[in-house]
Amino acid sequence: MKNIIFIALFYLFGTTFLLAQTEELPVYKDTSKTVEQRVSDLLNKMTLEEKVELLGGNGDFTRKNVRLGIPQMCYTNFGLGRGKDSRTTYYSSFLNMAATFDEPLIRRVAEQVGEEARVQGYNIMSVPQPNIIRVPKGGRTFESFSEDPYLSARMTVAFVKGMQSKKLISITKHFLANNQEWNRFDVDVQMSERTMREIYFPSFKAAVQEADVWSIMAGYNQVNGDYCIENKYLLTDVLKNEWGFEGFVMSDFGGARTTVKMAEAGMDIEMPKPHFWGDKLLAAVQNGEISETLINDKVRRILRVQFKAGLFDESPCDYGGIANTEVRRKLALETAEKSIVLLKNENTLPLKLEDVKSIAILGPNADAKNLIGGGSGTLTPHYFVNLLDGIKSKVGDNVKVEYLRGVPVPRLELPIADEKYFKTIDGKPGVYAEYFNNRELKGKPVLTRIEKSIDFNWGYGTQRNEGPGSPEPGVVNEDKWSARWTGKFISPGEGIYEIGLKADNGVRLWLDGKMVIDAWSDASPGKFKITKFNFEQGREYDLKVEFYENWGSCRCKLGLDKYNPPNVITPAVELARSSDVVILSMGLNSTMEGESVDRITLELPQEQVELINEVAKVNQNLIVVLNNATAIVMNDWLDNVPSVIEAFYPGQEGGNALAKIIFGEVNPSGRMPYTFPKKWEDTPVAETYPGLKETAHYDEGIFVGYRYFDNENIEPLFPFGYGLSYTTFEYSDIQLDKKEMQQNDTLTIKVTIKNSGKREGEEVVQLYIHDQEASVEREPKSLKGFKRISLKPNESKTVSFKIDKDDPAFYSEND
Ligand code: BGC
Repeated sequence: MKNIIFIALFYLFGTTFLLAQTEELPVYKDTSKTVEQRVSDLLNKMTLEEKVELLGGNGDFTRKNVRLGIPQMCYTNFGLGRGKDSRTTYYSSFLNMAATFDEPLIRRVAEQVGEEARVQGYNIMSVPQPNIIRVPKGGRTFESFSEDPYLSARMTVAFVKGMQSKKLISITKHFLANNQEWNRFDVDVQMSERTMREIYFPSFKAAVQEADVWSIMAGYNQVNGDYCIENKYLLTDVLKNEWGFEGFVMSDFGGARTTVKMAEAGMDIEMPKPHFWGDKLLAAVQNGEISETLINDKVRRILRVQFKAGLFDESPCDYGGIANTEVRRKLALETAEKSIVLLKNENTLPLKLEDVKSIAILGPNADAKNLIGGGSGTLTPHYFVNLLDGIKSKVGDNVKVEYLRGVPVPRLELPIADEKYFKTIDGKPGVYAEYFNNRELKGKPVLTRIEKSIDFNWGYGTQRNEGPGSPEPGVVNEDKWSARWTGKFISPGEGIYEIGLKADNGVRLWLDGKMVIDAWSDASPGKFKITKFNFEQGREYDLKVEFYENWGSCRCKLGLDKYNPPNVITPAVELARSSDVVILSMGLNSTMEGESVDRITLELPQEQVELINEVAKVNQNLIVVLNNATAIVMNDWLDNVPSVIEAFYPGQEGGNALAKIIFGEVNPSGRMPYTFPKKWEDTPVAETYPGLKETAHYDEGIFVGYRYFDNENIEPLFPFGYGLSYTTFEYSDIQLDKKEMQQNDTLTIKVTIKNSGKREGEEVVQLYIHDQEASVEREPKSLKGFKRISLKPNESKTVSFKIDKDDPAFYSEND
């Protein structure tokens, strides 16, 4: 009996306890409920003010709501930045990732990116950036995958799936057509519907439909007459309605422009701060311009992602753990090894260690501390193995390795030009300043005064609370303002001087009416522009400097120094002459290419070309290694050298991977992710890039990259998909399982590949299709499948691909 009572009591208490629990735990906190149930419940509990608040950023992060326990999204770019540890594993550039043609590898990389970001305290990251490489000078090429929509889409899906599987929210960006940095805030991309659907949509569509991407960033630019952030067709009709995107759309930072139009177009979060939303959006809802239903949809999207990513149920930002792990280091090495492309090899490579007693390593990149493009996609690795480190550790103590740079060190800063050089036009010390509350120096200045010299660092403003962000807070804006400084510049003395501007953002300089520095872009790589100027003794020069600030940090400093270049080429050539082998480490870096500015030329810097050619005259046992993302033309030197390796930016293990390739421990297997032209004039955009100030006409239509070279019968320097190996592969026995396909059929294609050489190696088998009969003009070939296989000498493997009705499809504008 006692037992029964006890059980009955327990039952009673148990029920009461459970009831109390259920009453206290709101549905949105109940992990047994579906995401949609939780979202609806939470949305119902929010006031209009709270909803609107959630739609504006909070500096780099999004807003949290303490009352309801809505967590913050802790935002970072690829380079992490200001988390626990500002260093991160650097696998490679995204271009290298595409050059591996290895989806499973990139998925593994992205999983590790996901885990490491969460370890470091972030839960949302703005990658990948699968904009098509349309312009081979494009500043953000190192962040892009390819010129080919299929390769780009496969890499995007692998990356997004990988990172999101670790609950790191992907912001796939920049939707759409951020294919050039020139005039990136305003350029209006004019393209046909077919071009959009066949070339520029596929990566984003695949991110949504195959990888269920949680967030999309809208680009700064316009597409067909509307800014991306205000483009209802792109954001609502296509992305949300046609593709079924359920996540949220974020503005690019500082890219917002309007209150109502942007809200109605389908934008969901304004970053980094609510400039056009916040109170303005609240007022628009309160006065009936925008419905609360529209706001609800935006909030619903944000909450949905936060629930899916587990932010309510787990420690939202900081997971704890170790960032720099063995697994990640090995993966970085594997990525580098598989991404490096052997472009030319006249029997120089691989080197035999036993034949080499001395190696001369020359060139600016060999001892680099890091190699990557500049801007928000840049990062600081945990460590960086450069080419010099890699070769030294590979060859050991028995081989003499000597390094000389061989080209002058570029100056990235100059001593500040002293106050004594500045004079106003009426002869007083200093420089006359005018400040404007817009980026374009338009209208009347809001402030004029005399400054002592041009040496300003105004900081970030409220965005990060470091410095006022403005020359005169309350009078001059914190973001989106400009300045002009005029007066006389007193000659520092007879002769050539270097004169430079370190500025963030755009800047330009005139001396005696002649523009000598033109860096009128958001943030030129390195944020430093330098030029030479021949001064005459005792003269005064008319000075004009113009500057604009977009958002973020802002500074402008004018530097000056006597030009006094050392002769560095002669000793380098002498070292090359006396060494068994020469490795020339050439190319670009983050001060030469990156976000917000396109390269001006496809040539290597002239001093590098000179070094290659001079060395080639004295030693033909020569390997040129290139680091770059934008294409390099090689007419002036390629015929003079026997071997060239394109490493792009191969990450923290790049030097080790290169050493292994150079000495044959690894057989090169990377493939070109886009076409290198012989000359700029051969490219599909030679006539249309950069376009008029306002407009870029994508007149080449679908004929982007290799589609254009094939169609026009222009021989490229190195085609898409190209890459040499130390072994040879034979293709045979191609079989198709049917001769005709109906709507719902799948065609299976098989091909046998044999390693007919003497070394083990990896081959990237690529499937292209060609439409023989179509009602519209079509590309001669398009990539529809690829597989990476490994073969021992004499080994054969059969690879199969499947084609379904979507593969040969094209978009017809006539139907
Ligand atoms: C870039 C974005 C980046 C953002 C935040 C912008 O200038 O275009 O790609 O995510 O800055 O750093």
